[in-house]
Amino acid sequence: MRDRSTRRHRLSLKSQLSSRASTDLHTYLDHNATTPVRPEAAEAVARALAQYGNASSVHRFGRLIRHVVDGAREDVAALVDTAPANIIFTSGGTEANNQALMGHDGPVLVSAVEHDSVREVRADATIIPVDANGITCGETLDRLLWDAGGGSLVSVMLANNETGVLQPIREIFAVARAHGAVVHCDAVQAAGKMAIAFDDLGADVLSLSAHKFGGPPGIGALVVRDGFDPELLLRGGGQERRRRAGTENVPGIAGFGAAACAAKAGIAKFGRLGALRDNMEARLRDAVSDIVIHGGDAPRLPNTSCLGLPGLASEIQVMQLDLAGIAVSAGSACSSGKVASSHVLRAMGCENETARSAIRVSLGWSTEPRDVVRFIDAWIAMAQRRDGKAEKRRSVA
Ligand code: PLP
Repeated sequence: MRDRSTRRHRLSLKSQLSSRASTDLHTYLDHNATTPVRPEAAEAVARALAQYGNASSVHRFGRLIRHVVDGAREDVAALVDTAPANIIFTSGGTEANNQALMGHDGPVLVSAVEHDSVREVRADATIIPVDANGITCGETLDRLLWDAGGGSLVSVMLANNETGVLQPIREIFAVARAHGAVVHCDAVQAAGKMAIAFDDLGADVLSLSAHKFGGPPGIGALVVRDGFDPELLLRGGGQERRRRAGTENVPGIAGFGAAACAAKAGIAKFGRLGALRDNMEARLRDAVSDIVIHGGDAPRLPNTSCLGLPGLASEIQVMQLDLAGIAVSAGSACSSGKVASSHVLRAMGCENETARSAIRVSLGWSTEPRDVVRFIDAWIAMAQRRDGKAEKRRSVA
């Protein structure tokens, strides 16, 4: 029995290693779905796994683990320029968003382009419309807040996961604050990709997730302003200053801290990805005149490009690019597998058919210029095959 299970283990390890080898041949341009773990973060996770003890224990083992958690808390706080006491570790961005919205007693308003982990928390939420670039308008929000009456909560993301579009967040939050609303910001896609100063943003609470900038998955944080008491989501323990119950995920927290530190140090380099992305879009536009670049006229994260190739469904494009050794996604990875078109693109006024031909290309900390060149060649070849097929159909008709 034991032999068989050992053999199974060896076989599965072998297949994992061979799939790792083929992954190395792949060009990974899906960093908004998740990122490769940075070496610094992997090392920190491994170091933390080699230690043990409960951070709540007063003995030596507990104190050493507490030290790891406190160090990571400082690094995560530094990433968003706030005090360590404002960081509450959670199991990721989804939990942080749920905690921010779930227990609010009063009207909730969320922008139409929010991630599902915001959109689906409150069935009673009022949707704040966006314009053709995916931008929330302060005047519209003002009107909706007058209609809602007092005691509202407003949730608007900093950067969109599908298009990379950045919201004029200070302006929007100023409107919300003028109505005395509680303000939540989902900064899951923005953190580690651009400088964020939480204390200047005008938000009461902000969500973060480690795996979007080189940390491990399954760890994130809710950042809260001094004096702001978030509603509890998980009860039954005094951890995180009684703001989130449950024994801390210490390896995850250690990896989060190391990734935050590396991302902060690399923020200027990350910004330079914008030139690579812009050059890529220019070359694609030159080659294919009917390309659609969703949100292309708005300020965006430097790493994201949402590209429409009319007449070719997103799923087909993702498969064809995968065969060419390139990993991208059809809209948001969290919604891939669904056949429905992206709610983000529909909110931007996109026809269903156009929205269904969009793919998301997202670069990241490990992207090299040659990855982008491979993508450009494969994407143009795909567009030419589309044109060839259309031409053939026309000549048969
Ligand atoms: N918010 C945004 C904007 C996201 O893109 C995601 C994940 O894709 C989440 C929240 C959820 O984060 P997590 O995967 O850590 O639960």
